[in-house]
Amino acid sequence: MRLYLARLAVLCKKLGGELRLISDAEFTALMEPEDNPEWDEAPFTRWHAVNWKQRLIIAAEKHASLNGIIHEMGHVFADPMPPTASNEFDWLGWEIAVAKYVGCYRQWSTGNKDYCIGDMNWGEASARRKHELILDRIVEAQDDGILSAQLRPLAVQRY
Ligand SMILES: [Zn+2]
Repeated sequence: MRLYLARLAVLCKKLGGELRLISDAEFTALMEPEDNPEWDEAPFTRWHAVNWKQRLIIAAEKHASLNGIIHEMGHVFADPMPPTASNEFDWLGWEIAVAKYVGCYRQWSTGNKDYCIGDMNWGEASARRKHELILDRIVEAQDDGILSAQLRPLAVQRY
């Protein structure tokens, strides 16, 4: 886990942002002001948030999940729009490529077993259906310019 977190932090730097792991108290204090426009807290994964403008991803260290962080990274680096206007399905292939890039795809897949991805329950879908969806999403991400031909994760152009 720590190795993967370290690799994700390096990738965030490379893409022009930053991953910060902080304490529960720091996280709570940051999220404290009601209606804080700077931070978007992950609605389903607690203890994870992004500052989209500053390309910052934060997670409370004790509760950090690889899936949660990779997803929040997608908001910051793969989506041209802020989290309130995002189209997450467009960058699912990017998330998968990031998981493969840092070597934690198996953990990513297990971590998503209870989630609905595309039109299927990820944990119950056959290997063949997963494979088809992954291919489809990776091609979309390459078309959108957020994955290189070699599946290296890139940062999206913001307008
Ligand atoms: Zn999201």
